[in-house]
Amino acid sequence: MQILVKNGTLVNQGRIRKADILISDSVVRRIADSISEDADIVINAVGMYIFPGFIDLHAHFRDPGLTYKEDIESGEKAAAAGGFTTVCVMPNTKPVTDTNEKIRYVLNKAGLINVLPFGSVTKNQAGLELADLAGMTDAAGFSEDGKTVVNAGVMRAALFECVRLGKTMFSHCEDVTLIDYDDIYGGNPNMSEDVIIARDIVMARELSAKLHICHVSTRSGVDIIRSAKSLGVSVTAEATPHHLTLCRDDIVKGDSNYKMNPPLRSREDRDALVEALKDGTIDAIATDHAPHSESEKGSDYKNALNGIIGLETAFPLSLGLGLPLETLARRMSETPAKILGIDKGRIAEGKVADLTIADINEEYNIPDKFYSKARNTPFIGKKVRGRIKYTICNGKIAFRIP
Ligand SMILES: [Zn+2]
Repeated sequence: MQILVKNGTLVNQGRIRKADILISDSVVRRIADSISEDADIVINAVGMYIFPGFIDLHAHFRDPGLTYKEDIESGEKAAAAGGFTTVCVMPNTKPVTDTNEKIRYVLNKAGLINVLPFGSVTKNQAGLELADLAGMTDAAGFSEDGKTVVNAGVMRAALFECVRLGKTMFSHCEDVTLIDYDDIYGGNPNMSEDVIIARDIVMARELSAKLHICHVSTRSGVDIIRSAKSLGVSVTAEATPHHLTLCRDDIVKGDSNYKMNPPLRSREDRDALVEALKDGTIDAIATDHAPHSESEKGSDYKNALNGIIGLETAFPLSLGLGLPLETLARRMSETPAKILGIDKGRIAEGKVADLTIADINEEYNIPDKFYSKARNTPFIGKKVRGRIKYTICNGKIAFRIP
């Protein structure tokens, strides 16, 4: 099957140019100023921008075991609607994804987009005993996300394995001994995140391990990462659209859609994240898409579960940060691909056709209906700009705007 995308503007590898793109047999065949060739589907992309398919380093598809929140099928649909063609899914499922067989379950169920499962660092995410990292040959990386590997000795052993296997550690940084859970709005201090960022960077430097810091939310976390990079440590970092756009002052008291982990922090923290995203200290925008049921979120703030959905709102929220479009393409696709070590993140002849077509000028209010099973987000009703029109994954249309 052939798809011809005509009259669009390509944002790719630091350049913006008008071009037609011919796709056939899942591959980009030709990119040229003008292509006139018969195709099964012709997309007129006049006025639209074409990005390399977005790559999310951090999402929760809740499958297996928690599929009342989300499953791989609904997660994939939400991803495609948000312009994502590749999504890394975290292992804190039920059971925990801590063997290659469980990783294969996720891979076998996926199909609409590329779903890349991470393997758990410890068995059952219990923090005690290292999982068989070497045995998880199909894992795209390793993470204990949802938790920190508390025991530094276990973390050292895991990083050592990562080096041996050539894989990256995706670290959720949170020292829970520093959290006051009775103080529901202010009990999670920046320090809780910063001490683990520092610890993991120290260990990664010593072992020459590849370390990725998940959902950075603090100014001092950014400072630590920036200085580690200047020392040549192999560390990368992500921030979420919600931490880049909201701060503590925006919390509507009692509305648990503002409850996430890490929590929303100060305006200064948020501004530091945006600066770090611009200068590349923060390498990637990742959603931390965290679907929950109405009852899990609807209960009182203190007992509500952490997290919000993010796949379907990431593009307009990120576009609203005002980065140059070339930088946005880097943070949402090109650099995540590099971090994963996969041959994606750019549109080029001969490469697999993963691309996202968007109208960057269309204004609308975020609707209250989603392709995700969940709707836990504080952004419903927010006025945004930037609408995904088509998502093409492996040369097939995975999403088109209805
Ligand atoms: Zn996390």
